[in-house]
Amino acid sequence: MKGLIILSNTENNPTTRKGGISVKTEHIFPVIKKWLYSEKEIFLRELVSNASDAVTKLKRLASLGEITLPDDEAFAVTVTLDEEAKTLTVSDNGIGMTADEVEKYIGNIALSGAVDFIEQYEKGDNAGGIIGHFGLGFYSAFMVADTVEIITKSYQDAPAVHWVLKDNGEYEATPYEDEKSRGTDIVLHLNEEGSEYAKSAKLREVLDKYCAFMPVEIYLVTETDTEEEEDKPNEPINDTTPLWLKTPSECTDEEYKEFYQKVFRDYREPLFQIHLSADYPLNFKGILYFPAIKNEYESLEGQVKLYYNQVFVADNIKEVIPEYLLLLRGVLDCPELPLNVSRSYLQNSGYVTKIANHITKKVADKLVSLCNNERERYEGFWKDIKIFAEYGALRDKKFFERVKGALLLELSDGKYKTLDEYLNTESETPKDTVYYATDPVAQAQYIKLFEDRGIEVAILSHTLDMQFISLLEDDKKIKFSRVDSSTDALKKESEVYENEEMVALFRKVSGKDDLKVSFEALNDEATPALLTVSEEDRRFADMMKMYGNMFPQGMERPESTTLVLNQENALIRRLAEVLDTPLAETCAKQIYSLATLAQRSLTADELRDFLLGSYDALKLALN
Ligand code: ADP
Repeated sequence: MKGLIILSNTENNPTTRKGGISVKTEHIFPVIKKWLYSEKEIFLRELVSNASDAVTKLKRLASLGEITLPDDEAFAVTVTLDEEAKTLTVSDNGIGMTADEVEKYIGNIALSGAVDFIEQYEKGDNAGGIIGHFGLGFYSAFMVADTVEIITKSYQDAPAVHWVLKDNGEYEATPYEDEKSRGTDIVLHLNEEGSEYAKSAKLREVLDKYCAFMPVEIYLVTETDTEEEEDKPNEPINDTTPLWLKTPSECTDEEYKEFYQKVFRDYREPLFQIHLSADYPLNFKGILYFPAIKNEYESLEGQVKLYYNQVFVADNIKEVIPEYLLLLRGVLDCPELPLNVSRSYLQNSGYVTKIANHITKKVADKLVSLCNNERERYEGFWKDIKIFAEYGALRDKKFFERVKGALLLELSDGKYKTLDEYLNTESETPKDTVYYATDPVAQAQYIKLFEDRGIEVAILSHTLDMQFISLLEDDKKIKFSRVDSSTDALKKESEVYENEEMVALFRKVSGKDDLKVSFEALNDEATPALLTVSEEDRRFADMMKMYGNMFPQGMERPESTTLVLNQENALIRRLAEVLDTPLAETCAKQIYSLATLAQRSLTADELRDFLLGSYDALKLALN
């Protein structure tokens, strides 16, 4: 029998068929041939998953008692490459098809799917594997083959069928004369575009990517003319029962670790994992891992692999997985996900939102439970997960609300505290200010002053921390104050003596006529002077730096620095007594430079001035 592939509108009753869309085989085949051009390789996923489905269907019939299978029957999908003949055969011993079924399932392309497909294709939304599922899976073979043969024998008592399909939509169907056991062989005669799949290594790579966890054993076999004997490997390429299918309580840490190392090819151990297992109606499973981060420069790009019934679909599908979770690594199997629809559908799907919410809740709950029950371990890897937690909190209000109590502050003395623990430390009334440093080395001098007063300093050195601070400030009605922003916490009760002459002297040596000078009695006697920049001004200046020239002219504010002179310091007291001597200027200049040096690194000119001043001071000391 000869024929032409028929495009049929499966959704309409054929007797009441109306005109409108008309898609001809000549139209659809060129489209299929170019289908997801960059992802030609998915043809193998489609054929192997059809084969695997065929086995699953057969097993289901057996389990329903409709058929009886021999006890020792081993089910498998075999991908056989004949390098010489340039053919690729995907065989299964599954349910098979009768002549009518081939006609029905292969000879008719469901029009609704095909139209969707063409529309997507024309929109250019062909970037991801997610749209590769329109009930056209079989036809993806024509991306790499000119001719495709189907040799199939149904589990029902019907003769085997042989179809030869050409890439112009024509086919020839004949009874199959040779012996054929139950199941289906799909033989691809690879064309020019498919020639790269005539290599075993390439096939292995593609099978590893898409089929590593399919439920039926898959074997890759290479046939060569010279060696008649098949080098049939004994090991299937896949793991038919991936760990995510197991009940979480039955999985060991060792298994989680092994699975992680295998899937992500990472020799390191993950910090911990969350095993997701949502029942009806969400019905999805997965494992999310928190990877260990080698150093702070390592990219935080994670990898979440999405599966559809154990068939790999794609990595990092933003439409399904909340963006911040893409910093993690993991696998997610969503059999309920309508993968045969477009990305824009997914973005607005209530089901997807529910998955995302479920995951968010599980992740937050895990962090809270680790914080409450395994505090030491949690602190041990806080540095690794901090960016994730802060980013998640910034990105997702719900996540923030849940995880709030488990967000830690790293303190300058190496301890960790939650925000509440920090605010309630050794005082009857809770504090409302968190003191922090952004650079523990450059700001060491200030940190020491706070520590000496028994005030803890949080280290917030990551660029993300500044946004995170704002989030906490809004939420908790508290403020964060950098150690160099105010001396309020460092002062003691004492009368303060203003000295106009001294102000003038420091303005002169600093070269800043409008320098703000303040006299204070600091608790620490050893420090003569400090520079402070108000928190608000510094944040504004930082923001301007970050956004470069984005601010219109006139919006810039000069960074307003205050020189704090410590009247408890002996040097400052002595200076007040010798203001009219030549020594005063040299001394004041050095005090100013040293205060600057304690706050930030000096510019080239400032450093030069500072060195010259120091030589002068040493000379004077020896005189
Ligand atoms: P989909 O798999 O999305 O339904 P395909 O074009 O890949 O679309 O396959 C169409 C149908 O052909 C399948 O639903 C199945 O009924 C049948 N089929 C394809 N491959 C096989 C196979 N190896 N064994 C049995 N039936 C198959």
